[in-house]
Amino acid sequence: MQIKSFFTKNLLNWYRPDDRPLPWKGISNAYYIWLSEIILQQTRVEQGMPYYQKFTKKYPTVEHLASAHEDAILKDWEGLGYYSRARNLHAAAKQIVEKHQGRFPEAYLDIRALKGIGDYTAAAIASFAHNLPYAVVDGNVYRVLSRFFGISTAIDSGKGKKEFQALANQLIDQQNAGVYNQAIMDFGATLCKPASPACVQCPLQSSCFAYNNQQINQLPFKAKKLKKRTRCFYYILLKEGPYYYIQKRTQKDIWKNLYEFPMLELPNQHHSTDNHDELLYLLQEKALIHPKDRLLSFSTMYRQTLSHQKIQAFFIEVERYSLQALSNDHYIKVAAAALNDYAFPKIIRSFLSQKS
Ligand code: SF4
Repeated sequence: MQIKSFFTKNLLNWYRPDDRPLPWKGISNAYYIWLSEIILQQTRVEQGMPYYQKFTKKYPTVEHLASAHEDAILKDWEGLGYYSRARNLHAAAKQIVEKHQGRFPEAYLDIRALKGIGDYTAAAIASFAHNLPYAVVDGNVYRVLSRFFGISTAIDSGKGKKEFQALANQLIDQQNAGVYNQAIMDFGATLCKPASPACVQCPLQSSCFAYNNQQINQLPFKAKKLKKRTRCFYYILLKEGPYYYIQKRTQKDIWKNLYEFPMLELPNQHHSTDNHDELLYLLQEKALIHPKDRLLSFSTMYRQTLSHQKIQAFFIEVERYSLQALSNDHYIKVAAAALNDYAFPKIIRSFLSQKS
């Protein structure tokens, strides 16, 4: 048997759709499939599940999502990270209402044209909802194909992406596209895992290049080692009676449209554990605090690792000397009890939870 048909046939024979039941598997509602696919990007199933349930309940149709306020969507997304996904969901829901009268599009190119939907997500929706023969290529698929076929082209190169997509397109079962796509993703998630794949139980083992050539740990191959940039955020909790000041992050940067306390960013930590003078002086220079403000507390370091950045944060609470409103009109004065109504990045939410 030809190696490609061996692969597809054995993969489909191995697949038992009921082995890993999930609420978005086996359904044809393109809107729910889309929600699940976006929620599960860079996210573990256990972490994404409550968000999927919350979104399908609170926004049961595209129209509900399109007509919601972005702040409400970001608040519901709080804790899941990669907030551009939530902003794009909202924008795409509006596109569907405006261009497709609220009906989720069926054609691959119409799906692909929606905001935040790339090749992978478009193929997943088209194949799961409508059984259209578009092959998904995600991290699981790269791993399975590179190991089984012995492909060492870098998966993070343009050449690699084309090569793997072309191979995936040849392998897909044209009549059972949705089932095939689900099978290969489940196979990568449960059997051909990144570390310690279950080769002993693998139905593809006899013809697997990586297994037969001791290359499992070398494949898939990535060219670039990602170097993460470190950023240090000093957040100022300006206490004015029972109120604090917050602002919306509107710049093109991480956490766009989420809220935060007034902040000074420095490339590195700018104080020692027992001496905050230099930093406090800097904050005064930037008019973030007043020389007569009373320092109430200075937190330990909080950390959050993102895909390309490492964030360090400190929280400095001061009691305002003057009760005149701050001149910066971006600031919003919020009662301490109402801080829960705003969507904050995880690092701030962790600090607030510990503080309360
Ligand atoms: S034999 Fe091992 S490495 Fe090869 S496809 Fe199966 S699980 Fe993956």
